[in-house]
Amino acid sequence: MSFPATLPISDEVLEIAQRLDAAGHEVWCVGGWIRDALLSEGGEAAGLTPSDVDFATSATPDQVQALFRRTVAVGVKHGTVGVLDRRRALHEITTFRRDVTTDGRHAVVAFGVSLEDDLARRDFTINAIAYHPLRHEWRDPFGGAADLAGRMIRAVGDASQRFREDYLRILRALRFAARFGFEIDPATWAAARAAAPGLAGLSAERVRDEWFKGLRTARSVGRLVGLWLDVGAAAEWLPRLSAPQTTAEVDRMPRDPVLLTAVLLPDASGVLRRLRASNIEIGRAEAMMRGPGAPEPPSAEGIRRWRSRVGDAADDLIALWRLRHGVDPDWAREVAASRARRDPVTRAELALNGDDLAALGVARGPLLGEMLDRLLDRVLADPRLNTKDQLTALVRTLR
Ligand code: ATP
Ligand code: MG
Repeated sequence: MSFPATLPISDEVLEIAQRLDAAGHEVWCVGGWIRDALLSEGGEAAGLTPSDVDFATSATPDQVQALFRRTVAVGVKHGTVGVLDRRRALHEITTFRRDVTTDGRHAVVAFGVSLEDDLARRDFTINAIAYHPLRHEWRDPFGGAADLAGRMIRAVGDASQRFREDYLRILRALRFAARFGFEIDPATWAAARAAAPGLAGLSAERVRDEWFKGLRTARSVGRLVGLWLDVGAAAEWLPRLSAPQTTAEVDRMPRDPVLLTAVLLPDASGVLRRLRASNIEIGRAEAMMRGPGAPEPPSAEGIRRWRSRVGDAADDLIALWRLRHGVDPDWAREVAASRARRDPVTRAELALNGDDLAALGVARGPLLGEMLDRLLDRVLADPRLNTKDQLTALVRTLR
């Protein structure tokens, strides 16, 4: 792969580079944006979302903060300052740095090093290419362009050492391989497998972010899953992960990490809890596992009762059904129709509320809740009953 003469950089981004350059600092575009731009030059833009441009600079974080009016302290300790351009898009500007000590989880970094040193601490050759936005020069000391052309994920430097410095790089290798459909260089792959037990020491949040990003961006979810299994990452973090039998169908599913985790893992909610996913995400997985997976019978009333029981999980359960059967369920249309009609399926949608019941003389407390449930049961059988008058009359007969 040869380098294009220039890359199309927006005026906003150019302004940031010019200001740093005018103040006497070196400034280069680096990282994922350069990689993706080169891939799209080769006609592979499809499906890739353009990320914001990352800069590497000789300016210290203090100097960057002094030069720009609107900054965000993204990770100043590690040298990263966010700068908002005039359209309020955020760009990360990171001071050239090298790792001083690493323990597989965190690094202590030192500033005051060269661009070459900075590129040497990056994870993969395809992520270690730099482009000068004003002089249109390229720096590619590790052969990243050749690996882009050869569709290869290869560690910068000694792969074993690089994975020991930060075990997350193993998961990043899997993610990039699955996202671009690249192979992993044999030496890098062997080092990744050997280092996999070190993944156990990573923070759950970092692992979760990688797993979720991987699911969102993989060209083939099946490939990503295969890589997690083969490298030994699943054994550490995703117990009982299994390769999907219907790879093509899984790839047609929405790239929703919680939904896909529920498809791929029998104990999805337990895994998500261990990965410190949010309570909402864990709850979604629990609701999917709880089901029921389909209305029984799939009559209009059966569908109202099913909606009432599964609540917000209805769409997830329809997606699971579609995956297992390869087609949309017939009853999905009736679910949509029931929603469009605003069929009442929760207590909150009843024409009478707790206060109304209390005013009718129902004692506050568990009895009142029971009464609401009994009214809902009747309304699920016949939604036309859901008027204030009819429910009031019902309360009188049910008491
Ligand atoms: P994405 O499209 O996912 O954002 P990216 O390559 O931009 O991909 P980032 O996590 O945004 O990934 O990181 C930006 C750059 O920082 C990477 O391209 C790489 O050069 C470097 N980098 C990020 N994480 C690591 C790491 N754990 N070890 C070494 N270098 C890293
Ligand atoms: Mg990025």
